[in-house]
Amino acid sequence: MLIIMNAQANQKQIDAIVKRADALGLQAHLSQGAERTVIGVIGDTRPVVRGQFQRMAGVREVVPITKPYKLASREFQPQDTAFSIDGFRVGGPQIVIIAGPCSVESRSQIVETAHAVREAGAHALRGGAFKPRTSPYSFQGLGVAGLELLAEAREETGLPIVTEVMAPEKVELVAQYADVLQIGARNMQNYPLLHAVGESRHPVLLKRGLSSTLDELLMSAEYILSHGNRRVMLCERGIRTYETATRNTTDINAIPVLKSRTHLPVILDPSHSTGHWEYVAAVARAGVAAGADGLIIEVHPDPAQALSDGAQSLKPERFAKLVQQIAAIAQAIGRGLVTPAPLPVM
Ligand code: PEP
Ligand code: MN
Repeated sequence: MLIIMNAQANQKQIDAIVKRADALGLQAHLSQGAERTVIGVIGDTRPVVRGQFQRMAGVREVVPITKPYKLASREFQPQDTAFSIDGFRVGGPQIVIIAGPCSVESRSQIVETAHAVREAGAHALRGGAFKPRTSPYSFQGLGVAGLELLAEAREETGLPIVTEVMAPEKVELVAQYADVLQIGARNMQNYPLLHAVGESRHPVLLKRGLSSTLDELLMSAEYILSHGNRRVMLCERGIRTYETATRNTTDINAIPVLKSRTHLPVILDPSHSTGHWEYVAAVARAGVAAGADGLIIEVHPDPAQALSDGAQSLKPERFAKLVQQIAAIAQAIGRGLVTPAPLPVM
């Protein structure tokens, strides 16, 4: 439930609410705005409990949160969540672009790609070191060696790193290298993993499951938020439908729906949602026009030789052209691209 305080409510009255919530075994989250204070209370908030709060001094209104997800809901937090990742802001008015190969393959591959995407205007580098592959015989990623190469690419370009973590016991290790922990589509409902990244306090990019509803995605985000980790971005990466012309079907609807239901930033992955490089730019442009706060795009210097997802990877030149188009669309809808950080001094 939300406890909306009177504009004149004083600190003592606010403290009393938090204390009462504590005494009832409920969690209180304070949001002190310029005009009014709203206290989100999570736990067993049946009508009799709501009534108790309603009668307390300074309370204007007690509103139940109707959604099954609480901390993730717009009801709980009307204003957008925005946070910084190593100097750039996600979830604000400006759009972020994360780019890089599907997998880290070698030093030259990741460093070359990092320089190329950085020059094109990307804000962060993606690259998988632990890869969730459909076949156990496919390339599984370089593991720790891949994380070390990502660290080198970061050192050279200054780009923060987005990389996937697949198992709860690997969260600590991956978090030593990653600026953002990616939860892949196949792990969206891996609850021990969600608990572990919630505990880590690292920013998280949570991808929508292959056949998950938006409410299920939001419930998974709720797991992470419920541990006190508020730096969560959601990622639409296409869903399984009857259509076979593309690898997945981009659910463009998800963008405005999520933006209305949650305050969390929404990122679109047009690479996995289409599965073909020829369609990536069109869908990326559509996503930004639809209100996405950012894009995550696969880029490879030599897609034909890529060890994973080459078919959907853009060559650096095509990616650079796309960034220009995204900048124009962002401007047309009253937004812009986040200004890239300066190159590190070597
Ligand atoms: C990826 O980002 O390379 C990936 C495996 O994505 P998804 O989990 O969305 O399939
Ligand atoms: Mn991929």
